[in-house]
Formats: sequence, C-alpha cells, structure tokens
Amino acid sequence: MSDYLFYQSAARLPTIDHAKGIYAWDEHGKRYLDACSGAIVAQLGHGHPAVREAMLKQMDKVAFAYRTQFENQPSLDLAERLVNLTGQRLDRVFFSSGGSESVESALKIARQYWFCNGEPQRRVFISRKPSYHGSTMGALAMTSYTPLTSPFTPMFQQYPKIASPTQYRVPEGLTTEAYALACGDELEAAILEVGAQNVAAFIAEPIGGASTGAQVPHDAYFARIQAICQRHGILLILDEVMTGIGRTGRWFGYEHWDVQADILCLAKGLGAGYYPVSAVMTRAEITDPILSSGGFQHGYTYAGNPLASATALAVIQAIEDEGLVEQVANNGAYLLGRLKALGERYEFVGDVRGRGYLQAIEYVSDRDSKEPFPLSQNVSDTITRLAQERGLIIYPRRSLMGEKGDHTLISPPLITTRAQCDEIVELMTLTFDAFQAQQARP
Ligand code: PLP
Repeated sequence: MSDYLFYQSAARLPTIDHAKGIYAWDEHGKRYLDACSGAIVAQLGHGHPAVREAMLKQMDKVAFAYRTQFENQPSLDLAERLVNLTGQRLDRVFFSSGGSESVESALKIARQYWFCNGEPQRRVFISRKPSYHGSTMGALAMTSYTPLTSPFTPMFQQYPKIASPTQYRVPEGLTTEAYALACGDELEAAILEVGAQNVAAFIAEPIGGASTGAQVPHDAYFARIQAICQRHGILLILDEVMTGIGRTGRWFGYEHWDVQADILCLAKGLGAGYYPVSAVMTRAEITDPILSSGGFQHGYTYAGNPLASATALAVIQAIEDEGLVEQVANNGAYLLGRLKALGERYEFVGDVRGRGYLQAIEYVSDRDSKEPFPLSQNVSDTITRLAQERGLIIYPRRSLMGEKGDHTLISPPLITTRAQCDEIVELMTLTFDAFQAQQARP
C-alpha cells in the first residue's frame, strides 16, 4: 500500500473495485449497499447504461470545448431543460463543475448584480447556523460548522448567521411553528442590524443537508423568509446542491413550499457522480445589468463543457424516463416510516427525519433531555464503521455546529426500490444491535 496520497484523515479505507446499481464491491469482493449515494451524489446508482451511452457518444464527438471560444449544443440543451424544470421561473443558467463552485458563483452573481445596478454598498451575505455551503473561501464564509471553518476564519469576512429552523430541538414553551417563525424573524433582525441597504442576499438550504442532518423546516418557515427578503429587497439564494434533482421527491427542494429563489445552486445529483457538473440558475433581470456592464467577472475552465452537459442531460432524462421523482416521494415516505419504527426500539435514537431520499437519524445519550453523546465516544463515526463492516455505507456528521451531536444520513440512490429499502433497514438493525452490544460492555 503506497503512502503518497494525502487523505483528509489518517484512517485508511477499503479500496473500491467496481460498482453496479446501488451496490459497490471492494478489492476483496466484499459487497456494500451504498445507502448515501456516496456523498448524496449518485442519483442513478452506478453503471447506468443510458448515461454511459450518452457519455461515450459525446466523447466520440467532442469532449471539451472552451466557453469563450465555442458554444456547444449539450450545454444549450441542458440550460433549456433546467429552465423548463423550474417552470421558466428561472431563465438564466451559469455552469460550473462542483457544489462549492456553484455557491461561489451564486454569491458573485448576487454581488456583481448589486455592483452593476447602482447599489455597490450591498455586500453583506446572511446565512444560517449550522449550515454547509462548500469548502472554497466564499462558500466557507457562508458555512457554520466549526471544525471546517475554524482553521480558516481569519482568511474570510465574518457575516451574520441566523439559527437553522430545527423541528427537533425546539426551545421549551414554543411550538415548532412558533419556533420556525422566530427563526425566520432572526433574518429580519440581522438585516436591520447591518442596515437593509447593505445586504446583498440570504442563502439557505431548503432542507438541511449534512450539517443539520436532513432538518425539514416547518411549513411556515419559507413563507416568512420570502416575505422578509421581499420587504427589504434582498436576494434569496437557495442552495440545492444536495436537495436538487429529485433527491427529496420533487425536482427541487423548494417545491415543497410556496417559495421562489432569485438564485438557485445545483450540483451533486446533476452529474450523479458520472461527471462533475454544477449550475447556478437565476433570472434575466439579474444577469442583464451584469452583461450590460461588461459581463460576469468570473468563470471556471471546465464549466459547461460538452461532456459535462451531455452527462447531466442523460441523468435528467433517465430520472424522467424512469419516473424516479415520484418513486422517491413514495418510497421515501416508506423508508422513513420503517426507520422511525426501527428507531423506536433503540434508546440511543433521538430522531428520525427527512424528506424523499434525504433522511437522517440523530443519536442521543438521553432521549428525554436530547442530551448528545460525549464527543469522546465519536458515535456517528462508530455507527458508520459498524455499518460499513456489515456492508452498508452511511454518512456521518455532527448535528450541533459540528461541535457535538451525532447523526448519520441515509440517502440512497433514487433508483432504490422498496425491497432495497427493506435491505437498508435490515442492515441498520444489525448495525444498531452491534452498537447496543458495544454500549452495554463495561
Ligand atoms: N452546498 C451544499 C448544500 C452541500 O451539501 C455541499 C456538499 O456537500 C456543497 C455545497 C459543496 O459541494 P462540493 O463538495 O461539490 O463542492
């Protein structure tokens, strides 16, 4: 085994050999069920024949063309496809390759819009805590997840952060609705504190991703957020890097509520793990002032290349042809029900939540007080390791600003059938039994 790779952590992992559908095999032939789509990416699982065919066809034509020299048909078609998926509400598309790049681009579109539109003082971006918006400096400045931000905070601007609307840890005496509205009102307080005339945008994940563990806001939340943004003329950026492209049982997470983004970020499921491709969607009234002032001062080498766009087009087509968005809405409710019933049987399960195939299980040392496990027990990592030993891949994170609290995401590929949901629950049961036995040991 060579030591040349610099890994994120010192831990070494099994070496993957091949993968098909929702399963992957390591070099020793051990099989794993991928119950988190890698990093909530592989919407179509592995080895999808139509995506493979579309990619090969495009590679035989032209794989790369640079955006300042050529337009290319796949990216024109992909832009049109995405615009139609939003019901033409968002009618301009900017391509990049990864989620962080799409968030970075969204922030810069918002900023350059105000810069070119006669309000250059609007430079404050408000986001939520906890949250995850990516690893590059702008996206990291929007992120609230202490282990990821703390080494780098001196390198970027500090902006206001408001509470993410959890439905699990609601302050005593408040209903979930009242708390959701109070979280929404924090936005208005933050805006007034810095002066509305200085605020460029508010950015949020429609359903919390890795940092909160699939926190679904109360239905009242986004209407309040939208009203506040409109009242103060502030752009609303929805980060759908994780929730977009069918993940939550709708094409976009925002469709669960009556809320409209000014700018929308897409990545992960758009390329579905077959090729890096991401997008920012917005409206002509935002891009026009930028274009008439000389153009968007931003871009990436690989953005919108023919192979990336052909891949995303094939992914969207396959999701549509196979009726996966509706299937995820139905099977997601089934899986959630089964995981909730499973959770009831184990004292260390505090909450099971999510929408579609974006779900999470939160672990607590005391169900009544919701007290998290001590950090030293590293519970989400331990449960993830026990699952992996049993052939199940899940995704661990800390729920409370990355500082404490444990959850694991369960987010299988959209192609996952009900029978395969049952298999996930069986493997989770074995995992929980093993964790329970470990806890009982002196
Ligand atoms: N935004 C959200 C909501 C995410 O979940 C992620 C990644 O997990 C990102 C942005 C960053 O995406 P990437 O890792 O592709 O840069």
